[in-house]
Amino acid sequence: MSLTTFFADLHIHIGRDLHNKPVKITGARSLTLTNILIESSQRKGMDIIGVIDSHVPSVQAELEDLIHAGKAEEQADGGIRFDRTTLILGSEIEIYDRFCQGPVHVLCFFPTLSKMKEFSNWLQGKMTNINLSSQRYYGTGKELQYKVKELSGLFIPAHVFTPFKSLYGKGVKKTLTEVFDKDLIDAVELGLSADTKMADRISELHRYTFLTNSDAHSLAKIGREYQKLELNEPTFQELVLAIQEIDGRKVSANYGMNPLLGKYHVSVCANCLEPVQTSEPCKSCQGNKWIKGVSDRIDELSDSDHTISRRPPYIHQVPLEYLPTLGPKTMDKLLEAFDTEMDVLHNTTKEELEKVVSEKLAQAIIAMRSGKLPVIPGGGGKYGRVKL
Ligand SMILES: [Zn+2]
Ligand SMILES: [Zn+2]
Repeated sequence: MSLTTFFADLHIHIGRDLHNKPVKITGARSLTLTNILIESSQRKGMDIIGVIDSHVPSVQAELEDLIHAGKAEEQADGGIRFDRTTLILGSEIEIYDRFCQGPVHVLCFFPTLSKMKEFSNWLQGKMTNINLSSQRYYGTGKELQYKVKELSGLFIPAHVFTPFKSLYGKGVKKTLTEVFDKDLIDAVELGLSADTKMADRISELHRYTFLTNSDAHSLAKIGREYQKLELNEPTFQELVLAIQEIDGRKVSANYGMNPLLGKYHVSVCANCLEPVQTSEPCKSCQGNKWIKGVSDRIDELSDSDHTISRRPPYIHQVPLEYLPTLGPKTMDKLLEAFDTEMDVLHNTTKEELEKVVSEKLAQAIIAMRSGKLPVIPGGGGKYGRVKL
């Protein structure tokens, strides 16, 4: 049996359902299940996608319509195939129990539509509105873990360092065992403002596989972060094997934004949003409240300085749309020439690119492939920027 490379982005929201009702209220109107599948398959070249609002009954109904119309098909080993993309059914949930002391987001994934529906039924009794995204769940983190495992699912704390709604950002003060059963965590999602090296400074994370996902609220953001997987075929069960690193299946590379580009990398003044040293008042406005950036938070939590040798490379990338001068027209030209965004990012030479875009842009795409694009840092909810 030979393994093949697949690209996967496991954190994509739904903006609207098939009745045009909002699911993720801040999500784009065009972000419907069907549009996500088409975009991932035809333009992004994303082989596996996790849609984490799949607990919503009207999203399940849209999927059943696609299955009945013969456009989508459940796979024997879990996951649903649409064109070249496999959909993994997931749900992002907000926990706020007496142990975590703050809203913490987690991702739960299930092999089949029937398991996902069972989960929704259970969740319905523990949530005010099952029709919306990332809703507060009334129960403990551990109860949720037990349910997910009972349904053969995957349990993954989401964007663990972001200052809002995350395990280390808002929740737990010292260790994740205060909130969760550590043996029932399958992997950890890093989020846009952290990379492997930063996360490995916390020793309790050493045992887990790291995932890098987009948390897309619009079609364009799909694939903003993603990973390369070595699998026998793109199914739920193979994804489980990759996360557990069994029989050669594995995450072979993480692709993510340079943490400097994330919205919450550096600490900033809560009043004027200028970068601050958290040891002294703001130099610009003398304010003494700040939004703690991910890098300062990791410094606080850090108890390890050795790198973990089994980690795959973490490659700093930005989505093509982040490159200055690369507008929608240029994007269409690139896709026409090279098929998908993944093809542009991974399978082109500089010479080929120069036939379609300017030399400067071709250079930037190649520089990005090796993580060498200069950036201006972000913080306090503002994204960093790329310098050409
Ligand atoms: Zn979240
Ligand atoms: Zn999310």
